[in-house]
Amino acid sequence: MTDGSPTGARIAVDNPATGAVVGHVSEASAEEVAHAVARARRAQKGWAELDDRSRAEFFARGRRWLLAHRQEITDCIVEENGKAVEDAIVEIVYCASAFAYWAKQARKLLAKTKIRSLSPFVLGRSMYTRRVPRGVVGVIGPWNNPLLNSFGDAIPALAAGNAVVLKPSEHTPLTALLMERMVRECDWPKDVFQVVTGAGATGRAVVDTVDFVMFTGSTKTGRLVAARAGERLIPCSLELGGKDALVVLADASLERAVNVTIQGALSNGGQMCTSVERVYVEEPVYDAFITLLRERFDQVISGKPGALGSTHVGAVTFPPQLTVIEDHVNDALSKGARALVGGHSVKGPGRFFEPTLLVDVDHTMKCMREETFGPTLPVMKVADAEEALRLVNDSSYGLQASIIGSDMKRARALAERFEAGCVTINDAQTNYMALGLPMGGWKESGLGVRHGAEGIRKYTRLQAISANRFPMRRDMHMIPYEPSAYRFIVRLVDVLYGSGLRGRTK
Ligand code: NDP
Repeated sequence: MTDGSPTGARIAVDNPATGAVVGHVSEASAEEVAHAVARARRAQKGWAELDDRSRAEFFARGRRWLLAHRQEITDCIVEENGKAVEDAIVEIVYCASAFAYWAKQARKLLAKTKIRSLSPFVLGRSMYTRRVPRGVVGVIGPWNNPLLNSFGDAIPALAAGNAVVLKPSEHTPLTALLMERMVRECDWPKDVFQVVTGAGATGRAVVDTVDFVMFTGSTKTGRLVAARAGERLIPCSLELGGKDALVVLADASLERAVNVTIQGALSNGGQMCTSVERVYVEEPVYDAFITLLRERFDQVISGKPGALGSTHVGAVTFPPQLTVIEDHVNDALSKGARALVGGHSVKGPGRFFEPTLLVDVDHTMKCMREETFGPTLPVMKVADAEEALRLVNDSSYGLQASIIGSDMKRARALAERFEAGCVTINDAQTNYMALGLPMGGWKESGLGVRHGAEGIRKYTRLQAISANRFPMRRDMHMIPYEPSAYRFIVRLVDVLYGSGLRGRTK
């Protein structure tokens, strides 16, 4: 880490599955970031002036490039992140669909909106709101999804007419650089999308210079970003940590419950803000659920990613994360939990932790309260849905939660009592692919949302225009004040909002 002054330092990028160094990137200084943002600011003007159709054409080129280069992108993601090939493919699918979705929706979601007012004081005014791009959006991405949580968030920002400067994680910067190449090879306007590589200081320099920050990462760093954005009075959107719960109700299909649980907990090696990190099972089905879950956990293949189908759980991407995972498992075991499957890190080369199934857990244990971000899953028996609800909400996080059950009415009623930004029923995580559905955390899981109308509108400033089409020489409320005019206004207010209303409610 540096204080952002020029260093010329180079950062080595390793393959978490082998330990081999697979590339180097430079560490952009604060000055270099400022230059990139200045170039982006100049390029943004022309980009914003293009109509939606022209921007959509650039997106279509990008989408075709993405699909034509999918093997290269997949290899790059797998190499720098260590995830299973299937998990990398999901990132490409997401970005291809995001290109198509935002190209189509931007026009509609950002259109001018006519405003009507019933106030007699603005009679004759025509009013509307319009959306103006913020300028330069800084996207700061994490290491768990080098494409989806980085470039994926740049797409709606660009669709709204902004330029984007992306700072990927120093641990996985190579995929973002591939996107810079995509932009060049697709002849996008120069500097509309740029990547600055570096560690935390480079991220700070981005927050110091852009007009809006889209940040995905830890709650700890999210607070720093929000504090700095507050000092600069620029808005930010934060997608932070989670401790997502899954509740299995007694009327659930256990096959579905087990499959959703395993996918939710172990896809991407459990390194997702939306990973299922704790499960509560109603007592009548607990034993049967655990028996099936254990059987399936035993069949999970973990290790160095290979061809399709060869590995289910890849490496631990972020070196310090191995210590966190070990700490959470050991803390649970020392307090009386049992590991039915796994429980240990795996000797190198590379960084791996065994897929681990923990039972006899409770809320005194770190594995039930703190973000683990690894291939581990604690499961707890609960008396009923009410106890599950209390435990689900007993968390400082509130990103997502899931319910598995067959009575939809009961499941929906329970979902609405969860303190989480999104609740899925008979699913986990699939909501992320529904780009029209907002996704964002409550409590310490973040501020703002991605996806949905707000997922693109946040990248704009709102301007309100009010035009008086029939201007008189003077309105009755204007200076010099006339007592008779104000007596009339007071009487009018009384009729409209005072005794008149009271009369109506009688
Ligand atoms: P961080 O929140 O520190 O990193 C996220 C991004 O922010 C990275 O690009 C990072 O750069 C950058 N950054 C770091 N410091 C600053 C700063 N002061 N200002 C601006 N940007 C900054 O997460 P970590 O990588 O340290 O992971 C820690 C924990 O966060 C994990 O253990 C996991 O629990 C959680 N996490 C949550 C994610 C989510 O999807 N919500 C994703 C990843 C992690 P660099 O990486 O180069 O230091």
